[in-house]
Amino acid sequence: MTDSFDPRTHIARPDELAGRVIAITGASSGIGRAVALACARVRATVILVGRNPRKLEGVHAEIESAGGPEPTIAVLDLEKALAPDYDALASAILERFGRLDGLLHNAGILGTLSPIEHYDVPTWCRVMHVNVTAAFALTQVLIPALKQSEDASVLFTSSSVGRQGRAYWGAYAVSKFATEGFMQVLASELENITHIRVNSLNPGRARTLMRRQAYPAEDINTLPLPESLTGPYVALLGPASKGVTGRTFDAQSPPAT
Ligand code: NDP
Repeated sequence: MTDSFDPRTHIARPDELAGRVIAITGASSGIGRAVALACARVRATVILVGRNPRKLEGVHAEIESAGGPEPTIAVLDLEKALAPDYDALASAILERFGRLDGLLHNAGILGTLSPIEHYDVPTWCRVMHVNVTAAFALTQVLIPALKQSEDASVLFTSSSVGRQGRAYWGAYAVSKFATEGFMQVLASELENITHIRVNSLNPGRARTLMRRQAYPAEDINTLPLPESLTGPYVALLGPASKGVTGRTFDAQSPPAT
């Protein structure tokens, strides 16, 4: 039954995520913002993680005015955060909620598109840090809170270039391969000994700032809005995907680049 699970075909109930506490990184804009709004719409209590308090307050206000459960803002700059910042977030979540039911690693940066021969080394390090190392650090400190949930889901954000390498995508593509690898290692470690499941999802092309940065000449009207891609996220963060772990999924059909 779990083998045939397809998050693209799942239709969420109005209260699908009721009672679940879900942390989303990069909740300030783009896909993260859209997923945060969608999770709150089906009654999740959302922890909005991001680096820009003003933008996060905007998403907070949108959720409140739509009548969603009151969200929480957690300011964390994944490029600059140090161990005490991660520890403080983990303690605050345990103190306030006593558990964490969902963790979406969505925040990411593109870096530059450039041949490896000329790839800027500091940019490489920044991309690997934000996209991979910060996700590791956050996951590590949040495992105790995830263990307190009866059905916790950790979801990583992948990309087409994290499954098939492509010229000039440099650190971004390599970071997404690492993300897939991290997902597999973590899923394998936690399977059978915890209630934590771990999967990855490739949103496919979406009308966001990152896509604009990667394809500046593209007609944005041809791109799906992030709001149209949220269904598979809700399915993977909620009870619909119970028992599914170690798998990679696509939010669009057929997988878009
Ligand atoms: P956006 O650039 O629109 O959003 C990226 C998010 O990450 C923003 O919320 C941004 O915060 C946050 N972020 C970036 N750097 C940091 C940092 N140092 N600390 C905390 N938060 C940070 O991109 P998308 O919405 O398009 O991308 C979301 C995810 O989807 C990424 O992982 C991306 O790789 C993936 N993806 C996107 C595709 C697309 O076509 N859009 C295709 C395939 C994968 P802020 O608002 O402050 O800038």
